[in-house]
Amino acid sequence: MATVLVLGAGMVGTCTALHLALRGHTVTLVDRRGPGQETSYGNAGIIQREAVEPHPFPREACSLAKMALGQDNAVHYSLGALPAMASALFGYWANSSPRRYAAIARAYARLIEHSTSEHEPLIERAQAQGLVFRDGYRFVYREAASYRKEVARARRLAQSYGLQHVELDSDALAAAEPALRRRLAGSIHWLDAWSVRDPGALVERYAALFQEVGGTLLQGDAATLAPAGAGWRVRCVDQTIDAEHAVVALGPWTDALLRPMGYRYPLFIKRGYHRHYQSSQPPALPMMDADNSLVIVPMFKGVRITTGAEFARLDAPPTPVQLEYSRRLAGELINLGEPVEPQPWLGARPCTADMLPIMGQAPRHKGLWFNFGHAHQGFTLGPACGRLLADMIEGKTPYLESGPYLPTRFGA
Ligand SMILES: Cc1cc2nc3c(=O)[nH]c(=O)nc-3n(C[C@H](O)[C@H](O)[C@H](O)COP(=O)(O)OP(=O)(O)OC[C@H]3O[C@@H](n4cnc5c(N)ncnc54)[C@H](O)[C@@H]3O)c2cc1C
Repeated sequence: MATVLVLGAGMVGTCTALHLALRGHTVTLVDRRGPGQETSYGNAGIIQREAVEPHPFPREACSLAKMALGQDNAVHYSLGALPAMASALFGYWANSSPRRYAAIARAYARLIEHSTSEHEPLIERAQAQGLVFRDGYRFVYREAASYRKEVARARRLAQSYGLQHVELDSDALAAAEPALRRRLAGSIHWLDAWSVRDPGALVERYAALFQEVGGTLLQGDAATLAPAGAGWRVRCVDQTIDAEHAVVALGPWTDALLRPMGYRYPLFIKRGYHRHYQSSQPPALPMMDADNSLVIVPMFKGVRITTGAEFARLDAPPTPVQLEYSRRLAGELINLGEPVEPQPWLGARPCTADMLPIMGQAPRHKGLWFNFGHAHQGFTLGPACGRLLADMIEGKTPYLESGPYLPTRFGA
């Protein structure tokens, strides 16, 4: 049995620690805050079994022009932040070419395929069934042209990846979703997706299970990570922990730890906002207003509106222009009510230029392991990727082919 330090108690780190502890290893999970209090708290809470293809960089001239001119709610950017991200963003654009994207999507789909099936046993053992709703995810379309286009795509995805969906025209949608205040062109209801009414609480339940099965949860700063003998050491509040292996699962904060160690991966972030509203009639299902890139999700705390991508520095002050616009658009669809919190929440999706997470052994440091870069679907992928990393640390043949996700794909 090994000793392992896992740095970062978001969905990804917590699931990695949990898988290792369930196999009998001595595991310490370290976070500067509590489990599931950052990105894994603030997301839309959807376990996106339908998200078999990652988000590509738009390549059509009209989409790029709309983004550049600030006319697309999917994207907001701070000009000053772009030079530092330029090389990773160029890689993202290049990897979104049809040929490269097809191979990336195949590798991505192999992870997503295990998303709900890997959450399932953990939800059960953590007794978290009350947080999870298994009634799917609805994409709604305001424009008839975009609905028609997306129906064709949905049929292709359903056929290629064995996904289940229901197409609802305007009348059927109005009947299925009584919370809607206006008629829309139609909807695609993905039946295989699940949603969580308090995403941070699911991570907390997984972390509680981790402790029940013998894991140790400590507060500490990952920046203190240093080699110690043949392994690794990190300073926590009141104590120092040594272990043979250390796993970096710091989500959007990973680059800050790895750069000084000489690892320069093409990482960037897409910031996102949320806010809850005291709606008198929440939608029955999570709803993506696909023409406007905003998500409206019923949560225990109220209706949560989440936004698209903001390209800005991780620590730059909030500029919630997308949230304000999304609030107005969401108010056209449902009766939104007053905000619950005084200020919006701000977080960041940890992204890689090739849209695939980075998972596996660090190329130049023995006993150091990576599990980060899960971008738009880290909440979905935590259990599947935690299991994969546990297999790798144990030196087993991984339960799924790990080649496309290894850090060595970027060189040594
Ligand atoms: C608006 C929005 C909506 C989203 N919606 C969805 C969705 O519906 N479904 C989905 O699957 N994904 C969604 N995502 C993406 C998802 O939230 C992320 O991919 C996922 O949460 C990343 O998990 P993580 O564990 O890698 O990072 P995090 O959850 O951010 O965890 C990283 C942890 O590292 C800790 N940490 C950082 N620095 C240090 C340090 N120096 N020392 C110690 N600890 C440290 C932090 O405290 C944190 O707990 C969304 C993201 C956003 C922003």
